[in-house]
Amino acid sequence: MIPSNLISKKRDGNVLTKDEISVFFTDYLSGNVTDAQMSAMLMAIYFNGMEEREIFTLVEVMLHSGSILNFPDLEKHIADKHSTGGIGDKISFILAPIMAAAGIKVPMIAGRGLGFTGGTVDKLESIHGINTSPDINTFMDWVNEIGYAIVSQSNQICSADKKLYDLRSKTGTVPSIPLICGSIMSKKIAEGLNGLVLDIKVGNGTFMKTISQAKELGSLMKKIGDSFDIKTDVIYTNMNQPLGRFAGLACEIQESIDCLKGNGPKDLMDITISLGSRLLIQSGQTNNKSEAIKIQEDLIESGVALRKFESSVEKQGGILDEFKFKNKPKYEKLIYLNKEGIISEMNTEMIGWALVQLGCVKKNNFDNLDFSAGIEFIKKVGDHVCKSEPVFRLFNSNKDILDKVDESIRSTVLVSDNYEKNPVELFL
Ligand code: URA
Repeated sequence: MIPSNLISKKRDGNVLTKDEISVFFTDYLSGNVTDAQMSAMLMAIYFNGMEEREIFTLVEVMLHSGSILNFPDLEKHIADKHSTGGIGDKISFILAPIMAAAGIKVPMIAGRGLGFTGGTVDKLESIHGINTSPDINTFMDWVNEIGYAIVSQSNQICSADKKLYDLRSKTGTVPSIPLICGSIMSKKIAEGLNGLVLDIKVGNGTFMKTISQAKELGSLMKKIGDSFDIKTDVIYTNMNQPLGRFAGLACEIQESIDCLKGNGPKDLMDITISLGSRLLIQSGQTNNKSEAIKIQEDLIESGVALRKFESSVEKQGGILDEFKFKNKPKYEKLIYLNKEGIISEMNTEMIGWALVQLGCVKKNNFDNLDFSAGIEFIKKVGDHVCKSEPVFRLFNSNKDILDKVDESIRSTVLVSDNYEKNPVELFL
C-alpha cells in the first residue's frame, strides 16, 4: 500500500478498510510512514472523521502496538478512570489512592500535556526522582504491592499512543472523536481492567465544546469498553472554568495532597467522589451511592488515602521531602482587573494556552517544562470582583514569560454588572 494513496483516500472523505488502517499505523510505528505523512492522515481524520468500524479498528491496532496487562493472581477488582482533559484536572492523583485504599487495583497509564491541557505524567514528574517509565513487570509489581501506580505510555505498552499523542499535540489534531477514542481506549484496555469510569469534560476548556459532541464521544467509548468486557460508566462534567484552585504542574500535586488531607475545593472533590462512587459500585463493594461516598470520606478523614499516595510515590522512587521548597517559583504576579462586577465567564481554553506559555506543556521537542509554573484562581465564575482584589496569581521561573502572560490572561475573564448568580452545574 502506498501511504500517500491512503492519505488521499481519507482526505477525500472515504472509509478506510481494516487492512489499510492496520498497515498505515503499523508502518508508522516501524518508521515506514513518516511523521509528515502521519500528520497529514491525522488532519484528514480530524476533518472527515471515521465510521464506527474504522474507530474500532483504530483502537485494536493501537492496543496491539504493545502488551496487554494480565493480573491473573488478583481476585481484586482492577479498575481505572480517565478524563478527556481539562484545565486544573488533577483528579487522578486524588482518586487513585482513595480507590487503592478501598482495595481496588488501579494500573493507571496516563499521558503528558496534550494541546492546551496539562499532562498527568508531567505533573507527577514535578516530584523529584519519580519514575514514570518502568518496565511492565515493575509496573505490575507496584500495582500489586501498593494498589496503584501512575505511569506513562512506553515502547512496551501503548507505544502507538505514545508516538501519536505527541504528534497530535504538535499538529492541532487533538479534538477529534476517533483519535481521542483510539488514544484513551487503547490505554485503558491495555491495562487489563474489569471496570472503568470516564470523565468526559464539556465546555470551553476542553476538546468537546458542546454536550452533543461529548455525548457522541462518551457513548462510543462506552460501547468500546463494553465490547472488551470492561464495565464502563461515563459521566459528563463542566469544563467552562478551571477545576479547583490551581492549574499548572507542581501546584496541582500540592493541591491533590491538600485534597487527600481533607482540604480540597468542593468542585474538585465532588467530581472525584462521584467518579469513585461509580468504581466502588462497579466493584460490588456497595450498591448504594451514599455508602460509596461515606467509604471515600472515611478513607480521607483517617489519613489512609494520603498514606497510600505517599507509599505509591515512594515506590515509584519519588521524594516528597521539601516538595514545596524544590518547586518554589522564582516569580509571581497578582492580576487585577480594571472593572468591578461579577465574573460571568472564563475563557478556559485561553487560560490553558497561558499555562502552556508559562511552561506547563511543551510546545515543541526543544522546550523544557517549568515544574514551578502555574496559576492560582483566586476568583471564579459567580464571584464578585473589585479593582483592588486580584483574580489570578501567576507564577513561574521566567520573568519575561510571566510578563507576557500577564498581558493575555486579563482578557480570559468576563465581568458583568448584572450577572445573575446561579450555581455552576458540575454534572451535565
Ligand atoms: N486523554 C488521552 O489520553 N488522549 C486524548 O486524546 C485525550 C485525553
